[in-house]
Amino acid sequence: MTKTLPTTEQRLTELAHELPTPFHLYDERGIRENARAFVQAFAWAPGFRNYYAVKAAPTPALLRILAEEGCGADCSSLPELELAQRVGITGESIMFTSNDTPPEEFRRAYELGAVINLDDITHIQALEDAVGGLPELLSFRYNPGPERTGNAIIGNPVEAKYGVTSDQLLDCYRAAQAGGVRRFALHTMVASNELDPAFIIETARMLFTLAVRLKDELGIELEFVNLGGGIGIPYRPEQQAMSYQEVSDSIRALYDSIIKPAGLDGLRLSFECGRVMTGPYGVLVSRVRHVTRKYKDYVGLDACMANLMRPAMYGSYHHITVLNKGEGAPTQMVDVTGSLCENNDKFAIDRDLPVMQSGDVVVIHDAGAHGHSMGFNYNGKLRSAEYLLREDGGVEMIRRAETLDDLFATLSF
Ligand SMILES: *Cc1c(COP(=O)(O)O)cnc(C)c1O
Repeated sequence: MTKTLPTTEQRLTELAHELPTPFHLYDERGIRENARAFVQAFAWAPGFRNYYAVKAAPTPALLRILAEEGCGADCSSLPELELAQRVGITGESIMFTSNDTPPEEFRRAYELGAVINLDDITHIQALEDAVGGLPELLSFRYNPGPERTGNAIIGNPVEAKYGVTSDQLLDCYRAAQAGGVRRFALHTMVASNELDPAFIIETARMLFTLAVRLKDELGIELEFVNLGGGIGIPYRPEQQAMSYQEVSDSIRALYDSIIKPAGLDGLRLSFECGRVMTGPYGVLVSRVRHVTRKYKDYVGLDACMANLMRPAMYGSYHHITVLNKGEGAPTQMVDVTGSLCENNDKFAIDRDLPVMQSGDVVVIHDAGAHGHSMGFNYNGKLRSAEYLLREDGGVEMIRRAETLDDLFATLSF
C-alpha cells in the first residue's frame, strides 16, 4: 500500500504557501467515512458505541464531527471533561477513565452524569468522599495481569499502573452493590497500536467471560462492556489496517456463544478508540529550512518534536512524503530533524527520501492522533495551528497558532 495524501499535491503546495508552516491538516471526509465503517461493522451489537479518546486530538471541531458520527468521549481529566461538555457531548456519552484521580475531577464527572470508570478498589471510597455517595451507574477498569500478555507499546499488564486485579474485581462490584450502585459496566485497556485482530477478539472473550461470572456470583447483569482503545494504524506503507469486519464477526460469534446462553443478551458493546479514529486523517505539513552535511546528511524542518513527538518519544515510524518530487526523483539518505536543542528531535533517521532543498514542502503522515495534542513549549517552541479540510474542499482554521503573548501570559516579570 502507498500512503495517500488528504488532497492533491498541488492543493497542498498552495496551502503551504498561503498558511504559515508548520500546521496540522485534518481530513473531514476521511474521519467521517472511517467512523461510519466502524459503526457499520458492529451494526449487530446492541447499543454499539465508540467513546473517542479525547487525548488523541482534543480539538472541538474534530470532536463535533465524531459526535455527529455517533461517538461519545473518553475523558481522563477535568479539562477533557470540560471540552466534551462544551461541544455538546454530555451525560453517559462521556466515559471518565482516569487514574490517580483528584477529588475535583470525580466531582465534575459526577455533576456531568458521565460514566465513571474506577481505576482502583480504593477509589470507591475516594469517589464516595468526593461526591458524598456513589452514582447509580459505575464501571471498573480491569487489569488481567499475568493472564494476558500486553503488546509492545502498552507493555506487560503486570507492570501497568492501571486497573483492578483479578483478585480485587469481584470485591469491587460487591462494595459498589453495598454502596447502592444499581447499574454496572466493565472496562479494560490492554492493547495499544495493535494491528492483530486476535488481540481485540481475546479482549472481548475475557470481558464476556467476566460478565458471566459477575452474573453467576453476584447476580449483576452488566449494562455494557468497554473493550478500550488500542486498534492500531498502519504507520508503515507495507502494513495493513485492521479489518473492523473481521474483528466484529469474531466478537459476534463470542457474543452468541458466551453472552446469549448466559441470559445476558442485550449487553451493550463499546470501544474507546482514539488513534484509529483520527490518526490516519491528519498530516503535519512542514517546510524544509536548511539542508546540511555534517558527519551525516540532515534536512532541518520548520516543524519539530513539539509538533509531533512520537518519533522522538517512542522511536515511531511516520511516513514522509516530499511534495512535487516525481517518481524516480534522485534520493538521498538523511535524518529529518527539527530545531530543538535535543538530538532526539528527529522525524526520521537514515531515511531514503527524494533530494531536498530549502523551501521544499514535506507532509508527515498519520499525525492526526497524539500529534498536536502532545505538543509542548520546551525551548520556547510555540504550538502551531490546526486546519480542517472540509468535505466541500474548503479549509478552515480550527485552532490558531500560539503567539509569544500566549507563551508569556503565565510569566511574572
Ligand atoms: C489512550 C487511551 C485510549 C485510546 O487508545 P488508542 O490507542 O488511541 O485507541 C482509550 N482508553 C484509555 C483509558 C486510554 O488511556
